[in-house]
Amino acid sequence: MSKVLTTCGYCSCGCGLYVEGQGRQVTGLCPSVNHPVSGGRLCIKGWNATPSVLGAGRLTTPLLRKNGRLEPASWREAISFTASSVRRLLTDSGPQSLGVIGSAKTTNEECYSLVKLARGVIGTPNIDGACRFYDAAIIPGLLQTTGVAASQADLSSIPQAGSMLIAGSNVMDQLAHVGSRIQDAARNGCRIVVVDPRASRLAPQATLFLHSRPGTDLAWTRALVREIIRRKLFVDSAPEMPGFEELCASLDDAIAVKPACGIGPDEIAEAAKILAGDPPAVVMFGLGVLQQADATAIVKMLANVALLLGASVMPLRGQNNAQGSCDLGLVHDRLPGYMPLADEASRKVWESAWDCELPLEPGMSAVDMLRACGSGDLKGLMVFGENVALSAPNSTESVSGLDKLSFLSVSDLYLTETADLADVVFPACSFLEKDGTFTSVERRVQRVRKVVEPIGESKSDLEIVADLASALGNQMAREPADVMAEISAHVPQYAGVSYEMLDQSWGHQWPLDGIRARLAAVPAPRIAEDDEYPFRLIASRINYHQQTGTMAARSSVLAREYPEAFVELNEADAEKLGLRPGRRIRISSKSASLDRVLALSSNVPVGSVHVPHFFGGDSANVLVSYECDLDSGVPAFKGCAVKVEAIA
Ligand code: SF4
Repeated sequence: MSKVLTTCGYCSCGCGLYVEGQGRQVTGLCPSVNHPVSGGRLCIKGWNATPSVLGAGRLTTPLLRKNGRLEPASWREAISFTASSVRRLLTDSGPQSLGVIGSAKTTNEECYSLVKLARGVIGTPNIDGACRFYDAAIIPGLLQTTGVAASQADLSSIPQAGSMLIAGSNVMDQLAHVGSRIQDAARNGCRIVVVDPRASRLAPQATLFLHSRPGTDLAWTRALVREIIRRKLFVDSAPEMPGFEELCASLDDAIAVKPACGIGPDEIAEAAKILAGDPPAVVMFGLGVLQQADATAIVKMLANVALLLGASVMPLRGQNNAQGSCDLGLVHDRLPGYMPLADEASRKVWESAWDCELPLEPGMSAVDMLRACGSGDLKGLMVFGENVALSAPNSTESVSGLDKLSFLSVSDLYLTETADLADVVFPACSFLEKDGTFTSVERRVQRVRKVVEPIGESKSDLEIVADLASALGNQMAREPADVMAEISAHVPQYAGVSYEMLDQSWGHQWPLDGIRARLAAVPAPRIAEDDEYPFRLIASRINYHQQTGTMAARSSVLAREYPEAFVELNEADAEKLGLRPGRRIRISSKSASLDRVLALSSNVPVGSVHVPHFFGGDSANVLVSYECDLDSGVPAFKGCAVKVEAIA
């Protein structure tokens, strides 16, 4: 029995941990003491959810639908059925009729190979990743401002920050090691402005806590930029930055109006003073601002704040490989390395590498694919490692669309709600059963190492993709190190990365070569009110859970802490509506309704309702429509208009 150093498969902090395995079980686990992120500590998910990925309920053989039921099948049958279904759709309806959705929890090598399979072998432009449901607005928002779709800050720099703006992130619960460094910074005297609709566990660290109104963050971010410019709090170089004049000219109407966005002009003035007064500043933001109808515009405004103040930007990405999955091209409108499809030179790089012809136009985003399942425009879908039945918006419509497909394949560890609808299911390996790399929130590419042999007949997504490519008449690499060699040869951010190089240190942070400063003007938001649906939805995660719960919810420890789904309201709202805690209430949007037990919380502002995400298959996403941010295609999960009522 030996301890294997690997990387945690839950959040994007990227903790290094030693895992001891015997047979098909984890027999020991401890954090790496010298690792620059974990430093001898793991969070509750790292400790408890890591062993559970090898636990009960794992898929052990491929499944094939026969006479309406999923039945065990051989790998040969499953792969050959899938290849013939893909061929049939390509012949009958063309490549546009097929879509592929990947995951932000699989390895870089798996993400890259999936993109290559979709674009280079199958020839469909419809390839996208799970980040479309979460934080994809980072890509257009930051590429058009800082020039780099990633964090500029390292975790090690956080404790030395003089001031910080943290917007829309439950970071203490979701990224524990970023949270602990924020606590270190606060202890060192850092002055922290926190903006969030709900007072999460971050609130006690705040010098100034501002309750924003869910879904209205563009209003206060524009007002903050205006205040920085109006009071000339910017760095000397700011007037020389491209876009400065246009930005200044666009802000006449950027006044924070408290009833509209929850934050008034005095609070904006105070925030600007704090952020400009104590450099170096860091501007962090999370899903609270990234899942809105204005998400890309908000990212640009937060980048403006950082550029004007000479601060660093740090998007707080959630899943373990959210950064790497986007770096490696699981993005419907870009090629690996964020190369634009519309750019001929970029297309040529990949046409030559993959020996294929690439279309100029982007394919459908993951949200568009789900919508197209319902309309019949998409006839076949291959999903790898993402439980879209829960993570997609408009869950009821999305599930009914999946049901209408003539072909659905799913690769996952468990028979998820999505896998249950599939024609063929591939049993996939967890991060403890395979080799590869993840890229963390600070751009750190790190090794994932196999600890135990795969459960049952499960295979890595890399092997599954290679088997599918082979059945479709192409050969693709099935060794992770070979795929990394291909990545490092063509993806500029990963140039020179090899397993030998990563083995010599604590991974490698890809360089910020493309960094620049371009300020961006965006128009004022339209804040619509709806008397029939007067509450605003705050859908968020809690610290004992992760994503759709496919892995984390299998831990009995985590399930024990919050055994039942609940919803939180401010006491004043509950009293006004005559609602009693402990009773089930109904939350309804224009799309759907959800019944949950009521809890009272002074952390939830009047006029908002907090619905924790993904509770044992009960998704808050059922309430949300297909409305998306036009620039990034991210659904408007935050700030959805809802009503709250007693159940008769
Ligand atoms: Fe894993 Fe994130 Fe927890 Fe570290 S902080 S142990 S990476 S879930």
